[in-house]
Amino acid sequence: MSYSRFLPDEQATIDFGRMLIRAVCQITSPHAITLYLNGDLGAGKTTLSRGMIQGLGHQGNVKSPTYTLVEEYRLQGKRIYHFDLYRLSDPEELEFMGIRDYFSADSICLIEWAEKGAGLLAEPDLSVNISYTDNARRIELIPQSEQGEAIIQLLK
Ligand code: ADP
Ligand code: MG
Repeated sequence: MSYSRFLPDEQATIDFGRMLIRAVCQITSPHAITLYLNGDLGAGKTTLSRGMIQGLGHQGNVKSPTYTLVEEYRLQGKRIYHFDLYRLSDPEELEFMGIRDYFSADSICLIEWAEKGAGLLAEPDLSVNISYTDNARRIELIPQSEQGEAIIQLLK
């Protein structure tokens, strides 16, 4: 079952990210937990990621991985990989990065513009769709695996 919520402002998105990562961390999974963050430029994908990463205790900045493609965080015994594939011109770049190694069992992968890496990324456990509603946003979570279903159950 999917889950949807209205996010009136940036702070609501950050707070939702903090709640979402708590749910993700409660899930046991034999593989990486992968979230595809979908939405137009400026929708709030990076803002949500910031809430999730800071929710795990990261104190510093969460910079957008627009130029680096991926930023890594080691928090609470987990590895968080925050991808932004918007500028990926050739999916082969992901092969050169050793993309498969990012999807190991103890990692959480947050992926903006996953469609640019089609065929080379793990399938998502959760699709997170953020859309505009005037100046606010609406977020919709669509489970794509048993783990995704379990995460949504924890939000209810
Ligand atoms: P993306 O990564 O999807 O391109 P960003 O998170 O970088 O988007 O930027 C979102 C922008 O929209 C920020 O400038 C933020 O202040 C603004 N904004 C306004 N309302 C919201 C909201 N409810 N959630 C997230 N961002 C919002
Ligand atoms: Mg972004």
